[in-house]
Amino acid sequence: MNIQNVTVCGSGVLGGQIAYQTAFHGFNVVLYDLKQELLEKAKEKFHQLGEVYKEDLNATQQDVDNAIARISYSASVTESVKDADLVIEAIPENIQIKKNFYTHLAQVAPAKTIFCTNSSTLLPSMFAQETGRPERFLALHFANQIWKNNTAEIMGHPGTDQAIFNTIMNFAMAIGMIALPLQKEQPGYILNSLQIPFLLAGMDLYSKGVADPYTIDKTWMIVSKSPMGPFATLDLIGFETVYNIAMLAADAGNEQMRTGASLLKEKFIDKGKLGVSTGEGFYKYPNPAYENPGFIK
Ligand code: NAD
Repeated sequence: MNIQNVTVCGSGVLGGQIAYQTAFHGFNVVLYDLKQELLEKAKEKFHQLGEVYKEDLNATQQDVDNAIARISYSASVTESVKDADLVIEAIPENIQIKKNFYTHLAQVAPAKTIFCTNSSTLLPSMFAQETGRPERFLALHFANQIWKNNTAEIMGHPGTDQAIFNTIMNFAMAIGMIALPLQKEQPGYILNSLQIPFLLAGMDLYSKGVADPYTIDKTWMIVSKSPMGPFATLDLIGFETVYNIAMLAADAGNEQMRTGASLLKEKFIDKGKLGVSTGEGFYKYPNPAYENPGFIK
């Protein structure tokens, strides 16, 4: 199937990036959100993103002007999807919000339209029924800062048509992603299935008092040759998300994680230190200590 018209639903952190990246690679994009003022905000963000693309990807002014010209905006689901070959859903990570959204979308989207969810933690099989077209529904999961963290994890549910899966693999490559197919449903896809236990292991060492964050990061960086250890990564992700993940692990039986989560809350979150976004977490930004070549010497 030939994809030309893409509707991105949700103009927040990820939706905005997906819309821009898709338009940058030559597709027609309609961006949908609940209210016109949210779309106006996204529009402003696109001008800033243009500067980032010029800096990081050597994009020309013409490239970024063309990208912006290919994006249109709508606060009506019906209007936004009327010509869509593909809808990419990036609305809040909430089961009921997504179920309601798909129930509505199923009624107003053309029969040809493929639906993809960018959900980070929810599985496509949770919404397959509501889409009214389970064979044309799957997950296409991007990472934050999509233009440089260009993974696209592609994951169907048991009812996804293989031909549709392949179409989305090709689409992901066409918008500059490395397409990474998953053969079955997995909470957390590949990346988070690897990364979350790793980050929690770092928190575990710290909260038990085994070693301080810098020592833990150094150990990892020296041997793995990675530019960041678990604590620098936690800073980047942001502590509200990290706290929620640690509490989920605690509720699932990992009691040490409750200690880790409380430590994070008392020492950082309650003091307004949320990581890179607030200029301080385990490290101070800009120019965090781990970027100093002497850090691992
Ligand atoms: P966000 O809160 O920044 O944006 C969500 C947007 O959806 C808002 O602008 C909201 O107004 C809009 N929206 C559209 N329809 C809505 C409806 N019916 N009800 C409520 N809001 C509606 O969220 P985000 O961080 O962009 O995340 C969106 C999705 O992408 C989630 O499923 C999340 O798991 C996933 N995701 C996020 C990240 C990340 O780093 N933020 C990374 C990968 C995947």
